[in-house]
Amino acid sequence: MILLLLLNVAIMVVLSQMLNNSPNLSDAIYRSKNIFASSLDSDIFWSGRNFVFPFFFIVDALIVFWRLIRRYRQMQLRHIINELHYIADGNYNYRIPFELRGDLSKVVASINGLVDSTVAAIEDEREIEKSKDELITNVSHDIRTPLTSIIGYLGLIEDGQYQTQEEALKYTHIAYTKAKQMKSLVDDLFEYTKVRQPSVPVNRVSFDMIQLVEQLAAEFELEADKKGVQVLVETSESSLIMDGDTEKLVRVFSNLITNALKYGTGATQIVIKIEKAGTEAILTVKNNGTPIPRESLDQLFDRFYRVDESRSQEISGTGLGLAISQNIVNLHGGYIYAQSNRQWTSFIIHLPLKANTSKDSSAGSR
Ligand code: ATP
Ligand code: MG
Repeated sequence: MILLLLLNVAIMVVLSQMLNNSPNLSDAIYRSKNIFASSLDSDIFWSGRNFVFPFFFIVDALIVFWRLIRRYRQMQLRHIINELHYIADGNYNYRIPFELRGDLSKVVASINGLVDSTVAAIEDEREIEKSKDELITNVSHDIRTPLTSIIGYLGLIEDGQYQTQEEALKYTHIAYTKAKQMKSLVDDLFEYTKVRQPSVPVNRVSFDMIQLVEQLAAEFELEADKKGVQVLVETSESSLIMDGDTEKLVRVFSNLITNALKYGTGATQIVIKIEKAGTEAILTVKNNGTPIPRESLDQLFDRFYRVDESRSQEISGTGLGLAISQNIVNLHGGYIYAQSNRQWTSFIIHLPLKANTSKDSSAGSR
């Protein structure tokens, strides 16, 4: 402010000196009858007050205003930088709380957004790390159990701790069964890690869903007969052409039918229903019998999850089938979920159809 005032005085002194020292200019100004110029003489501060003072006042006010705005901006920037340092020091849950106007508000919003996505990425990374550790723990546990039996029974044979040839054969049979169990776990695990990779190839071909399902149901008929279970295919379509990796989809349907046969306690029917709804095919595999407890339903698709009852009954299985199925369905752009009530335990799959290729017909239930 003081600098500005001194500058004002200096400008006025220089102006009045210039006018006094150049009579031509002075005459011209006098002739122009300008109120300010005509009375501008050595007494300039007083006689030019009506024009000079307001003019300088406005210019000074503008300069002061401009300086204040700049100062305020710098202060805000310093504040933002301090907040950034605070976040960078490890306070990732902190966000810049104040709201600003103009471009700086965009800067603050971008910083907060950046911190959000960085924190989300760190969380994802942690989650992946945690789930890898869990996977290793589960696999080690599930491999150790049959491996201990194999070593135990083969040890008995190695030490000659058996009375008869039959007993030795029994031990080898148990070791063989356990070894097969281990192979199935390793196969499942291999399949699971394969379908989880983002770049997993999906060999899409055009196929008829109805034909595929009927063929699969026929393959399970013998096994189902032995258990006194009837396998039915229900659909109102005569054919449903869609795109997909048949090998992978067969794996999904086989797991669902096998599960229904293995775990459907007291089941007498397995129904495979195929519907067309808009651009989707809805495939339901359901069985009657004892329902799945409500609290287990959400976890069925977690890898290695098995309902307590299945574990306690010692039905062989690794708990990876549904996790693999979910990944395969997702790879096809669809989704799968489970429902269970006193009548039916259903696994429902929604899969996108190949556009304009499904043919409607009315074949009724079969
Ligand atoms: P895998 O399929 O890898 O050989 P699994 O059959 O145990 O092993 P999932 O197919 O993932 O694994 O099934 C997980 C669990 O869900 C099963 O262990 C069982 O407890 C339960 N489950 C699945 N389907 C049914 C069903 N139809 N009725 C009752 N329980 C079921
Ligand atoms: Mg299974």
